[in-house]
Amino acid sequence: MSGPEVGSRHELERGAFPAFLASLERHGYSVVGPTVRDQAIVYGEIHRVEDLPIGWTDRPGAGSYRIERRADAALFGYNVGPHSWKRYLYPAHERLWTAERDASSFTVRPEPTDGPALALLGVRACELAAIQVQDRVFLGGAPDPGYRARRQRLLRIAVQCGQAAATCFCVSMGTGPGVAPAAADLALTELIRPERHYFLVEVGTPEGARVLEGVPLRPAAVETERAAEALVAATASSMGRTMDTSGIRDLLVLQPEHPRWEVVARRCLSCTNCTLACPTCFCSTTEEVPTLSGERVERWRRWDSCFTLGFTELHSGSARRSTASRYRQWLTHKLATWHDQFGSSGCVGCGRCITWCPVGIDLTEEVAAIRATGPPATPEAPR
Ligand code: SF4
Ligand code: SF4
Repeated sequence: MSGPEVGSRHELERGAFPAFLASLERHGYSVVGPTVRDQAIVYGEIHRVEDLPIGWTDRPGAGSYRIERRADAALFGYNVGPHSWKRYLYPAHERLWTAERDASSFTVRPEPTDGPALALLGVRACELAAIQVQDRVFLGGAPDPGYRARRQRLLRIAVQCGQAAATCFCVSMGTGPGVAPAAADLALTELIRPERHYFLVEVGTPEGARVLEGVPLRPAAVETERAAEALVAATASSMGRTMDTSGIRDLLVLQPEHPRWEVVARRCLSCTNCTLACPTCFCSTTEEVPTLSGERVERWRRWDSCFTLGFTELHSGSARRSTASRYRQWLTHKLATWHDQFGSSGCVGCGRCITWCPVGIDLTEEVAAIRATGPPATPEAPR
């Protein structure tokens, strides 16, 4: 049996969604996707359609988040929650290698990189862009073996956004809300009518086509394609926030002494939430964990944050002692020097850092405040 062609479009009835999930498992994938836990929509294992957040939506704001019931039974009727997919490709805590004492020295064994093939179900356009950003970090130069292995066995099932949150600004960052053709293995658009609940399915890659083998589909009608386009266009026109990114690199890099850094520092708690929730932040630290006998030592990597004092600890203490310097570092790297380093912005406009900041610091507001004082006049600061 062969699946549909790459580039083709189909309709999948809501009633056939369990058959789609079963097909993913039959093709060897463990499915992870949105689910409701602890009053939030977070990512977790999906075994049956009832594991999805049926009839729930979320209301992210600056420093606030809640979920509430929708008037319909949408499976993907939310925006983005506190989790990002990076937790599956770049785990928060990961053993890198183990060394064991032998007769004369140590034998070092790298951590095995095998594991389950994962199907990420419900990836938003901004989150696909975030995975691409992390690909440049972990696969460019010297590839990270664990990330590369996990990435190679990943299936990305995108779901187009049918609504924008108050904190969304993917249009400003050029990352959404529409999923570009072939940016995902499969792209779904959920369409809910009084008489019918169904999905437009777009096949992006051969692997996306393969997992559709045996799933009941019918060719997409023109009206379905139009309805899907209209939904994404409506989402694009209802973004909750915007950010003017013109000349943003120089705007931030050339103003290390701008008074706004001190203003934001009066609110910032250096709690690190923004970096942990961000789907692109990738800074880490490593720890050696020896046994008491000294016979064995493990090296672990865990997420770190440029907001901690220890992140820049040198012989004479932390290089960034003030909160202002740490916030400036984060924002300037994310929006400005990331371009120098990786050829793109480090921000995809998902809004998580705004929502999960306990004091509601909003990077779109900070950029606007710095821009409001006019173009930078000082010479380029040393980097
Ligand atoms: S900086 Fe904020 S808005 Fe941008 S990608 Fe990270 S969490 Fe999302
Ligand atoms: S900006 Fe907000 S989330 Fe980030 S470290 Fe400061 S207080 Fe925490």
